[in-house]
Amino acid sequence: MLMALVLLGYVNSGCASQAGPHQHKTMTARLDKIAAPLLAKDIDIANTPIFLKQDDRANASTDGQVVYITTGLMRRVSDLALTLIIAHELGHISLGHYWSESPPNQLEQEADRYGLFLLARAGLDYRSAVLLSTSAQSPHKSGMAPFTDEAKRAAYFRTIIAEIETLTVREISLIP
Ligand SMILES: [Zn+2]
Repeated sequence: MLMALVLLGYVNSGCASQAGPHQHKTMTARLDKIAAPLLAKDIDIANTPIFLKQDDRANASTDGQVVYITTGLMRRVSDLALTLIIAHELGHISLGHYWSESPPNQLEQEADRYGLFLLARAGLDYRSAVLLSTSAQSPHKSGMAPFTDEAKRAAYFRTIIAEIETLTVREISLIP
């Protein structure tokens, strides 16, 4: 089972252009650079491989050990949006979701929370990342998105932001 996340309501453009070897290398370098700040040495996911997958559809997934980001996703999102997507998948890994029997919505919320904490820990602009992930949505649904209600997801993100802000003010370390 691959836990797939399509947090972007992107409809596939249908563009079938394949990345050549050079493009692939450039995308891999970009992916490594984006993921690096998330893989903090002191947490269990520090050595998680982040692989680029040749696929024109926009998707991110994990098999519980590796994060897969498609070339189609790389083309469609900004670096900051991609950071949150990767952090979300790392959450699925760290929290052992691959083997969990909890309801999918619960797992998605837990991964969102973990992901946002990871961004905050890394000193990244987690508030903007949330806006990018929840506002630039296409009205169309992919049919794969676990979150059918984006407004609900945005509201959940706001509660996590408040939680992070409270912990930061109290100088409590951000452990997802
Ligand atoms: Zn997910």
